Amino acid sequence: MWKPGTIHHSFQEDAFSCGVFVMQMAKQVVEHFPNIPESINIIPSKEEMCHIRKNVAKTILQASVSRDEYCSVCGQKDTKDQTEELCTWVQCELCQRWFHVQCLEINLPPKEEPWICGLCL
Ligand SMILES: [Zn+2]
Ligand SMILES: [Zn+2]
Repeated sequence: MWKPGTIHHSFQEDAFSCGVFVMQMAKQVVEHFPNIPESINIIPSKEEMCHIRKNVAKTILQASVSRDEYCSVCGQKDTKDQTEELCTWVQCELCQRWFHVQCLEINLPPKEEPWICGLCL
């Protein structure tokens, strides 16, 4: 038998993190199943929203099929950066995913050294 209830929760502070909030709430409800959480506390700070977004992206990427022709960070093929240079690609030794070096915000690893992506580390 269904009955309505209220879960107390923290509130979103910006105008664009509703997706983050909804996903975190759904996650906590599922994690408590078959019980219902009494309250849901999501820290609404900019830093925490950014942190959660990165974790969601990481989870989705880890569950995704690697596609040779797409960058695993931005999902784009070859793009030009701000200086109109073609992007440089690097491939993870373990998962074989490809990444734009520019999207990783790292220095290009030396060619002779195997490089391992953040998802595999
Ligand atoms: Zn990219
Ligand atoms: Zn990898």
